[in-house]
Amino acid sequence: MTVQQHQAMDQTVLVYEDDPGPPPGAVPVRHPVPQLETQPFPTAIAQPAPQPDSAGPGTAAFRYWVAADALSSASRMWGSLVPSGTQWVPSVGRVLTAHLDEGVDLNAFYTRTSLEFFHQTVAGVEVFSAQSPEVVRHELGHAVLDALRPQLFHAAMHEGDALHEAFGDISALLTALQMESLRVTVLTETQGNLELSSRVSRMAEQLGWAIRQLKPDRVDPDCLRNMSNTFFYRDPVGLPPLGPANTLTSGPHSFSRVFSGAFLKIVAGIFRQQATQDQAGLAKAAEIAGRLLVDAVVAAPVVAAYYAQVAGHMIAADQRRFGGVHGQSLRSAFVRHGILSLEAATSITAAEVARRGAGIAEATPGGSDDQGLTTVTIQGMAYGVKGPLTLSAPGEVRRFGIAGSAPAGGSLRPADPEQVATSYLEDLLRRGRVDVPEEHRSDTAVVDDNPSRLKTHEIVRSEATEGLTLVRRCFD
Ligand SMILES: [Zn+2]
Repeated sequence: MTVQQHQAMDQTVLVYEDDPGPPPGAVPVRHPVPQLETQPFPTAIAQPAPQPDSAGPGTAAFRYWVAADALSSASRMWGSLVPSGTQWVPSVGRVLTAHLDEGVDLNAFYTRTSLEFFHQTVAGVEVFSAQSPEVVRHELGHAVLDALRPQLFHAAMHEGDALHEAFGDISALLTALQMESLRVTVLTETQGNLELSSRVSRMAEQLGWAIRQLKPDRVDPDCLRNMSNTFFYRDPVGLPPLGPANTLTSGPHSFSRVFSGAFLKIVAGIFRQQATQDQAGLAKAAEIAGRLLVDAVVAAPVVAAYYAQVAGHMIAADQRRFGGVHGQSLRSAFVRHGILSLEAATSITAAEVARRGAGIAEATPGGSDDQGLTTVTIQGMAYGVKGPLTLSAPGEVRRFGIAGSAPAGGSLRPADPEQVATSYLEDLLRRGRVDVPEEHRSDTAVVDDNPSRLKTHEIVRSEATEGLTLVRRCFD
């Protein structure tokens, strides 16, 4: 151990544990000086580290240590769960760098080269997205899922985007549950029923407060998104692209709540199965749920009914790792949110998992971006784009012939890849999220040039084909 590391162990910094909450904000706590060089997910902050112990809320030094602590804790949490050999996608480089204040916005991004955070003054209060550990851990979650499943980055499918958003919120939840102090707080707050709304289920209270002042119907009444919810699965192909926060839409943040809601119930269910109903039991439950999720996203094929596949693979992972002891908690949560139909949930038997075992065991994290995706070429004219346009549609074969619930009961029939991809493009355009450069626009192009609207995607000339293609810039 170096002299600096010894010093760092003695020194502390003031940080927030989860989210500062609405103004005036929470009282910070003391943590040891965070280490960003954690393997296998090292991070960095694009500015010099200030002196530890140097400053409290309202200063740049304080924001630095809050973000550093959030990055370090989330990296360590995921690092303990992912298969060995997992690393950031190549474009990130060895270290994922965070830029804490890139200008005015109430948002944060993962761009595949870095994490970017912003600030905005709302009702006289300056709100920095990097000052919320929950927002920082959400963004880091995007980078971790990208490392595990890079195929989701450009895939034109609602459920891939939504799983990314759910994974981000789960990243914040599981990292918070690594802290004994928060586990004790949450057990008191929920009286041991983790399904209830709590400090860890309420995502990004401060950013939620800020957005609520400007666009009140965009966020939950008490935070940005609450994982304690009852949103029931619908095929996103049939949902509207936009709507108030109390409705389910195909928008990735809205639709993510179906999966993250089920995940909170899974943590709650596995906790009820623990020998001790205390903070140690809760730590164990969170770790098991995280492990099953990582196994599932590595093994689940990228298909149209993707939520059902990830759910089925969590049940299979539990069978393989733990002999299926958490099966009831998993099935019950996925059925209650409609992610699995009843017949789907009951069809994943031990024998069925054993029969499919080889394919699951062979799955490894990473791989090329287009692995398992199929190219769909559409006429761009109908979308205001000149010439043919290619989309990366989900093209893998479903494992376990399972699907989500149909509203009247039974299973939904998943849409075909072309339908999924075109519906996805149409929704992006209807939400104004695609940057279509001037030279690619048709005469009747519907273009949203509002500079304040984030463009998550762009139309570019394809390197592989002659025509144009849809690519992602970032997750927000
Ligand atoms: Zn996100």
